[in-house]
Amino acid sequence: MNYQKPKGTRDILPNEISIWQFMEKQGRLIASSYNYQEIRTPTFEDCSLYTRSVGDTSDIVTKEMYEFTDKADRKLALRPEGTAGVVRAVVENGMLNNALPLKLFYFSNCFRYENTQKGRYREFSQFGLECFGTPEPIIDAELIILINKYLKSLGITNSNLLLNSIGCPECRKEYNSALREFAKKHEQDLCNDCKRRMVENPLRMLDCKQEKCKEIFKNAPNILDYLCDDCKTHFYTVQQLLKKEGVKFAIAPHLVRGLDYYTKTVFEFEHEGFDGKTLTIAAGGRYDNLVAEIGGKSCCAIGVGIGLDRLKTLIPSNMINSEPLYYIANTDEVQLDDIISIAEKLRNSGLRVEINLANRSFKAQMKYANNINADFLIVLGSNEIKTRSASIKNLKTGEILEQKINF
Ligand code: ATP
Ligand code: MG
Repeated sequence: MNYQKPKGTRDILPNEISIWQFMEKQGRLIASSYNYQEIRTPTFEDCSLYTRSVGDTSDIVTKEMYEFTDKADRKLALRPEGTAGVVRAVVENGMLNNALPLKLFYFSNCFRYENTQKGRYREFSQFGLECFGTPEPIIDAELIILINKYLKSLGITNSNLLLNSIGCPECRKEYNSALREFAKKHEQDLCNDCKRRMVENPLRMLDCKQEKCKEIFKNAPNILDYLCDDCKTHFYTVQQLLKKEGVKFAIAPHLVRGLDYYTKTVFEFEHEGFDGKTLTIAAGGRYDNLVAEIGGKSCCAIGVGIGLDRLKTLIPSNMINSEPLYYIANTDEVQLDDIISIAEKLRNSGLRVEINLANRSFKAQMKYANNINADFLIVLGSNEIKTRSASIKNLKTGEILEQKINF
């Protein structure tokens, strides 16, 4: 039998790995410059953690979760998103008893049983950041500024930031009933999911992907008209801080998030893909009630998930430069132990070095150096061994460098 990878998964081969390493390196660098610290949580958790946090009527839980029962009959699920596991870890390890805010980031693979298409996989990777313990709008602004900087550092310059506030449970109560009333009038034209959402979770209707529903909800009541004073002031301050830092955004009153736990500020960064379709590359918001919901004490929080698989397709190729590769070709008269010890010296000095590992003839080694796309060639003959130095040829230009290499 010829095995194939499961539908919706991908192999990341060595020729793509430098982009992934670049996204991770920049992410770690920038997160750390804002004093976010890395956390790693399990790939699977109790299923009920996700039904509680993401929401038992959300698409993720109702349709997309990879659930399984282990040999001891535990109901588990592969992580569909990163926040719930981090919140669980923060509560379980008593991290909220230390100085707040607590700022954490992670790189995690996530699993969702989705209809696969370009930019939508069943296993995908997120760079996530979560900040716990401050209700202040300054942290909303700081997180958005951080993401903006991260995208720029990858060479992604023309993404759009959409911003909204979905209020607190108090102001949302009134909005939900207005939205329900609106949907009721259009009930016969709504998809079956929206008919269900209308009863269970009206806000979710605004996130429907069906064209017909999208068209209807363009005229839905505007949540910004329903915000309480506290939520209004919060949203206004976030906008002022972003403006001051020159971060451009558009208010998107119908922007809601696909997960149940959000409150107040929500946002998305969008970018046009190569096929002209808009891709959401980062999405997040405030979730002031989730920590208490998961069993911790009441604690405000905000977070974002950045979709690395989608980001990867937008990074200009000139942003990636890998270390040059040196190939050491040896003539017949050179001893193996000399080749190894010279290569070791060069590697110890920081060079990336390949040697003749397959006992190739000198001519075959020249061909091999080209095949592995080596940048520089060092030829070792008895003379080089004697003088402990060799010249370096740039294989891309054919030029011999003036400076010899010593070993
Ligand atoms: P969408 O509306 O595109 O389904 P979502 O609201 O489900 O996205 P989140 O759960 O907020 O997305 O995840 C944050 C980011 O993770 C998304 O903006 C996207 O970049 C990425 N993402 C989500 N699902 C997938 C997937 N199936 N494949 C690849 N990337 C994904
Ligand atoms: Mg989704």
